[in-house]
Amino acid sequence: MYKAKAYSAASATSPLASTSIERRELTERDVQIEILFCGICHSDLHSVRNEWSEFMPTQYPIVPGHEIVGRVTKTGSGVTKFKPGDLGAVGCLVDSDRTCAQCKAGLENFCPNMTLTFNSPDKHLGGVTYGGYSESIVVDEHFVLRVPSGLELSGTAPLLCAGITTYSPMRHWGVGKGKKVGVVGLGGLGHMAVKFAHALEAHVVVFTTSASKKEDALRLGANEVVISRNADEMKNHAGSFDFILDAVSAEHDINAYINLLAIGGNLTLVGAPAKPLQLAAMGLLFGRRNLSGSLIGGLPETQEMLDFCGAHHITADVEVIPIQKVNEAYERLLKSDVKYRFSIDMASLKSE
Ligand code: NAP
Ligand code: ZN
Repeated sequence: MYKAKAYSAASATSPLASTSIERRELTERDVQIEILFCGICHSDLHSVRNEWSEFMPTQYPIVPGHEIVGRVTKTGSGVTKFKPGDLGAVGCLVDSDRTCAQCKAGLENFCPNMTLTFNSPDKHLGGVTYGGYSESIVVDEHFVLRVPSGLELSGTAPLLCAGITTYSPMRHWGVGKGKKVGVVGLGGLGHMAVKFAHALEAHVVVFTTSASKKEDALRLGANEVVISRNADEMKNHAGSFDFILDAVSAEHDINAYINLLAIGGNLTLVGAPAKPLQLAAMGLLFGRRNLSGSLIGGLPETQEMLDFCGAHHITADVEVIPIQKVNEAYERLLKSDVKYRFSIDMASLKSE
């Protein structure tokens, strides 16, 4: 074991603060990574504040962070994919059972025994896993992704969660040329969804509560922007969408979006608000519409997404911050004031 600097929260009401954590010595298949950038996902905030307490209670202290890009510093004797000096990336998963049907199909994200990057039982050290708000991490090479060359690193980190979470359902539900696609909520996930839907040549409509984001939405690749608080603007799109991706972090009316689906259209939730959402049955019945969900993505598809980003020069639009500004960043997330992902420059941890 060795010590690593990190930021953790001691309770649901404590701010994140500097700490020291233990990381394991490398096993045969492990890769040690010096973390260069870690994105701030709204899931970090939900978890730190124990907002998913019924489904996934938080164990404290918590070190969040699952959008990790860094430099490989050491490898175990059996590692074949990486050598010291390579770039490596880690997302929301650091382990799974590798034997279940989902793992065999490359869908580790649906393995009943997956280990999340933070707040999951740690098989090696006991306690729970600690995430990417830290100077280094040790991960089995199977869960470390290759970073395509030429991508700017601060904007690459968010691909590991915001990227794959939006890419995967779009591929699954056939987003492409000739499809009308809606994206609800222009935050970290939403802005990646716009970039992917545009790159996949769909007709993209952004739904936002923030009128100030309209120009950005068009720049990111939207064909149209709807201010969702405007009922008339919403009505213009009734019954017309093949697919809508809902990436909203808070309570909101999903029925308004179900009513915008075409016959047989699909609304996929990726946003995970703390409280249950109300569903009006009629919206689904009239039009044989579908409501579904999606959770990040498996390892092969995450690599595919990164390679797609390499080929299409796609990264997240980020505001790079030092770790010392993380609590301020959380407050801004709650006000929908992020353009469009915070990415922590981990070099800032050295001064702690
Ligand atoms: P984010 O950057 O904070 O963006 C959320 C966006 O939702 C905001 O920018 C805002 O967009 C909109 N919004 C916020 N409050 C709203 C309200 N009261 N009513 C309507 N719209 C509102 O969050 P994120 O990191 O993209 O994450 C979004 C959600 O996805 C979170 O719940 C997160 O936990 C979840 N998530 C799920 C997965 C998964 O695997 N399924 C993975 C990662 C994250 P506008 O300003 O445009 O309205
Ligand atoms: Zn996330």
